[in-house]
Amino acid sequence: MAKRPQPRFPEPNTEPYWEGAKQRELRYPVCRECNQVIFTPRTVCTACGSRDLEWKVSKGEGTVYTFSVVRQNRMPGFVDLGAYSVAYIDLDEGFRLLSGVIGVDDPTKDIHIGQRVRVEFEDQEDGEYPIPLFRPVG
Ligand SMILES: [Zn+2]
Repeated sequence: MAKRPQPRFPEPNTEPYWEGAKQRELRYPVCRECNQVIFTPRTVCTACGSRDLEWKVSKGEGTVYTFSVVRQNRMPGFVDLGAYSVAYIDLDEGFRLLSGVIGVDDPTKDIHIGQRVRVEFEDQEDGEYPIPLFRPVG
């Protein structure tokens, strides 16, 4: 099982996001005043300043905006991964999430910009919050 770092609380901006991850839901806030999608999550709308936000659940489908491959990382929680990707994912609901693409044989060859991906939640050995990562579809 993976050992990626866990979020720490209290942290009011992202706590609902991580509570969603526990339910294997990718949640994101939307402003009720101006309909702006706010990501990374905040308690205040970054477009109009309103605090009247609604949390919605993403379908978890999107495309790879860009990515990089880390070939070696000696940080605890990453040392056992070998080569792994770090990727920005554009979700279909209109927000961009820094995550990674998993489930490929060779991350240096099997990931590309524009690739369709779907979220899945990776359970963590050292914590209760699964980490949202993306797997290619189709
Ligand atoms: Zn707003």
